[in-house]
Amino acid sequence: MSLSSSPIIGSAGVVEPGFCQYEMTICSCEEIINEFEMLTRDAGRVQQETLKKILEANADAEYLTRFGLDGRTDAESYKSCIPLCVHSDVEPFIQRVADGDSVPVLTGQPITSLSLSSGTTQGKPKFLPFNDELLENTLQVFRTSYAFRNREYPIGKGKALQFVYGSKQVSTEGGILATTATTNLYRSPRYKEGMKGIQSQGCSPDEVIFGPDFHQSLYCHLLCGLIYSDEVHSVFSTFAHSLVHAFQTLEEVWEDLCADIRDGVLSEKITAPSIREAVSNILTPNPELADSIYKKCMGLSNWYGVIPALWPNAKYVYGIMTGSMEPYLKKLRHYAGQLPLVSADYGASEGWVGSNIDPTLPPEQVTYAILPHTGYFEFIPLEKPTGEETESSASIHYIESEPVGLTEVEVGKIYEVVLTTFAGLYRYRLGDIVKIADFHNSTPKLEFICRRSLVLSINIDKNTEKDLQIAVEEAAKLLEGEKLEIVDFTSYVEKSTDPSRYVVFWELSSETSDEVLSGCANALDLAFLDAGYMGSRKIKTIGPLELRILRKGTFREILVHFLSLGGAVSQFKTPRCVSPANSKVLQILNKNVTQSYFSTAYGL
Ligand code: AMP
Repeated sequence: MSLSSSPIIGSAGVVEPGFCQYEMTICSCEEIINEFEMLTRDAGRVQQETLKKILEANADAEYLTRFGLDGRTDAESYKSCIPLCVHSDVEPFIQRVADGDSVPVLTGQPITSLSLSSGTTQGKPKFLPFNDELLENTLQVFRTSYAFRNREYPIGKGKALQFVYGSKQVSTEGGILATTATTNLYRSPRYKEGMKGIQSQGCSPDEVIFGPDFHQSLYCHLLCGLIYSDEVHSVFSTFAHSLVHAFQTLEEVWEDLCADIRDGVLSEKITAPSIREAVSNILTPNPELADSIYKKCMGLSNWYGVIPALWPNAKYVYGIMTGSMEPYLKKLRHYAGQLPLVSADYGASEGWVGSNIDPTLPPEQVTYAILPHTGYFEFIPLEKPTGEETESSASIHYIESEPVGLTEVEVGKIYEVVLTTFAGLYRYRLGDIVKIADFHNSTPKLEFICRRSLVLSINIDKNTEKDLQIAVEEAAKLLEGEKLEIVDFTSYVEKSTDPSRYVVFWELSSETSDEVLSGCANALDLAFLDAGYMGSRKIKTIGPLELRILRKGTFREILVHFLSLGGAVSQFKTPRCVSPANSKVLQILNKNVTQSYFSTAYGL
């Protein structure tokens, strides 16, 4: 196998960053891994070259000139001139791009697309710049993890069952196209071309991916996946949440799917003409296949192992499974049976961070290796203040020190990620906390810990998304003997009472006794181990935790609400804490509460 083009070697003798080095269609996994090895062996130098490249290309951008960088491209000048920033600092600049400002605002070359971040972690979607270089970086990250994955789980020329969904594209005042980051990728011809060599062809036609109605798209993804069931070699969605959602839907619609396949006629529920036409073209009567699917579904015990049963040649299930996706792992494992779960890469609408190069590790142990030519990375060291140590590491309110470079991080330490991208973000705080798990050559491998923002805080208590997740897992142990599970959860700080209190919302797969649920409310209250919370509960400056049980389907209603705001299913993350500003979500939650239980754990 030969390279279509040699890596572009810069003056410093390293691969020039930001460009696709190989034509994927003819490049072997071995070559991709070799390139990765070469780049990561010299990560420090590649980082300096990458920064230089970014700053040279964008030397005229107003964002850089107004801080007086004056065309300098070295790390010291960059760090001393350009301050760390958060999204609200760059928002006015991004707005000018959206409004069509003709001067170079953030990048030397005009930005022609914007990405809309999911907004589900922070409540409201954010606009972010998107350009060709970001797309190439995405391909680099994807091809790297693919090469490592394919070495362990080789897949032939089969198909991929992909639960992917585009979202609406809107044009801003200045005529810039804006849509979710994933849609920007899926719509790009370059992305499709670049993915050819690293991803099997999807089962569904584009009309299903870009269909106007998510429910109809999901139904047809399942249908197309079943039509090609023997050819499917991998099952994918961006996040574990949408994988679980897909198979929960299969449980409900499997008989309709069998009927469609048996008769070769698409269900009347599919009304979108574009989807109807495209799917009808591949649907022919196949009673034999319908019977076999029917039999397999009937033979399953509580849908355990449905994925390998219906897609017998699938080698693995793939999607982001770390961080806020961990709560869905149990259910996903149930559907996947013995099939390996492989966590997909780590990135954001802002830019990609790392590739999973250890595909055989269970998702709970996955780390992400940084590709040093995809951006310039800094890390803000976070330290635990002495005396505040509790068992839950995430609940610590960290002390920050000066950011360090990619090769200066230390194994075992915790940092916030700071990105400088080819798309015009400079020293941008991503808001994610990571732990350095290891190094691969001289590039770090990151363990995703959680979003930095606190989700639950009333006075001196500080609890993150991770703390809430740990508390919910702890309390869920009481449900194990009851044969029921938590479908999804979120939380809220109830400030209308004095003292204020935490409210945790649970949607359960079935009903259980008041006794069990009262026990769960107590267990939740006791599972927040942050000293501030425990202290405040003891002296009653925080009231008893309330567990509110929701009607089945509540979280689907929340998903549909996010989609109505322009979000994409592919990027949806359940908001783990609802702020009062998010009144519509609160309204959905509160109207669906069926029971409520107050903790008595710290006395009445
Ligand atoms: P988005 O709003 O869709 O751009 O979401 C980006 C955020 O999703 C990141 O900042 C992370 O908090 C989270 N995320 C992305 N990839 C992963 C991953 N592999 N593991 C855990 N969290 C992730």
